[in-house]
Amino acid sequence: MTKSEQLYEEAQKYIPGGVNSPVRAYKSVGLVPRFISKAEGAYIVDADGKKYIDYIGSWGPMILGSNQKQVFENVVAACQNGLSFGAATEYEVKMAKLICELVPSIDMIRMVNSGTEAVMSAIRVARGYTGRNKIVKFEGCYHGHSDAMLVKAGSGVMTAGVPDSAGVPEGCAKDTLTAVYNDFDSVQTLFEKWGKEIAAIIIEPVAANMGVVLPEDDFLKKLRQICDENKSLLIFDEVITGFRLGIDGAQGYYDIKPDLTTFGKIIGGGMPVGAYGGRREIMEMVAPLGMVYQAGTLSGNPVAMAAGFTQLTLLKENPSFYQKLNETATMLFEGMKQIIKENEVEASINYIGSLGCMFFTNQKVRNYTTAKMADTKAFGTYFKHMIENGIYIAPSQFEAMFVSGAMGEGEVKETLEVIERFFVR
Ligand SMILES: *Cc1c(COP(=O)(O)O)cnc(C)c1O
Repeated sequence: MTKSEQLYEEAQKYIPGGVNSPVRAYKSVGLVPRFISKAEGAYIVDADGKKYIDYIGSWGPMILGSNQKQVFENVVAACQNGLSFGAATEYEVKMAKLICELVPSIDMIRMVNSGTEAVMSAIRVARGYTGRNKIVKFEGCYHGHSDAMLVKAGSGVMTAGVPDSAGVPEGCAKDTLTAVYNDFDSVQTLFEKWGKEIAAIIIEPVAANMGVVLPEDDFLKKLRQICDENKSLLIFDEVITGFRLGIDGAQGYYDIKPDLTTFGKIIGGGMPVGAYGGRREIMEMVAPLGMVYQAGTLSGNPVAMAAGFTQLTLLKENPSFYQKLNETATMLFEGMKQIIKENEVEASINYIGSLGCMFFTNQKVRNYTTAKMADTKAFGTYFKHMIENGIYIAPSQFEAMFVSGAMGEGEVKETLEVIERFFVR
């Protein structure tokens, strides 16, 4: 029995499913999860001492690679001053100012402890600001596990949302309308019916929770327009894309100003941090300034701020970082495309910058329906091969691969060799 197997057995006695977040259980690939003991740079090491090239990077935060020296040092220094005060600190001010400088659509920002909290709060603010209740989200986009966001599409886009989880009252889901990613008509249909009741559209500007799906043509621009025409707000959920597609996120990449933005993952440098921000007049709705209540005992925690602020500062001060990161990622994803082509594999690659994934379908994946066409069994076999050969990727067809700045040609070549061995068998 491996150490991971022992730990998993023990964990299942005390933690539901043995894990603190469902995807970690490896259920969709039918394997025992690897318990992790440490990570350094581009590598992660499991409880049995086996080393892997890490394409999860804590699901995005570790864009600089794990245990980056300066981030580590500043976190230790912050710890020496005390782990938490539950009071205002200088770090929070520096952090907020930095993000407002880096992201032009953000005049004011509030720190929270997770992406879920950031989205939940941004939606409350959008509802408070507009005095409306309905929210449009897209099928296949993930926005954390708050009640209103755990909604699957009703039968056809004209119906109200249906809860996607037990324990979510219908009342919490009924104001969540679901549209189809990359299908502007589906959005228009919702606005024709509910326009004056829609507080906001929320979207992952690049979807990265149904695999990676890129927005087509003017899709995001049209969303901006229809929000303006109907006095609804546009919320970009940049929990993954923020500070990954570039220092100003997907909104900088596509040159679109959302009214509100949510962050998480990278913003905390590996610590539990989320944030939501946007236009001044909207953010002035938040307590204690305004009537929208939102609070957090550990929000803006000094140790977490030390990690996040240091990571963002490093990204800001090294403009060539993203160029090099994207070159490494391009080498990887183009290499994967090449392998697929040469071996006539039924698979396709979607990627942008350092974010990408392989779908086990030869369909072009442009929304949830086409993503679901992927052969998850084939993915499971592929996953097993990858993990056994030292490549740590997400145990699900519908998650992204995250390339980090700690990776170079060596890691990419090794990864491509492992992938090639799988397909030429
Ligand atoms: C991860 C994620 C969330 C939720 O963040 P947590 O920190 O896990 O609560 C929300 N939105 C998107 C786009 C995400 O990828």
